[in-house]
Amino acid sequence: MSTGVLPVAEVLSVTPTKTTRLVVIRCPICGRQHCHGWPYSLGSIGTRVAHCVGRNVPPGSPGSYYVPTPEVS
Ligand SMILES: [Zn+2]
Repeated sequence: MSTGVLPVAEVLSVTPTKTTRLVVIRCPICGRQHCHGWPYSLGSIGTRVAHCVGRNVPPGSPGSYYVPTPEVS
């Protein structure tokens, strides 16, 4: 798989909950923060669709980004 064409989001925090992990990222498209669920069943976060797509993204933006998997204990 190739992630070279996708922007990469900066992970700001990971919050464990009973059912999932909540990952707050800095969106490389709009510069704001978005929160994504990261199920415990997934070893990595991977590519996510930007929550801001359709509102603040310019035409032609890919509308998704790659979220690098943070170190978690
Ligand atoms: Zn965004």
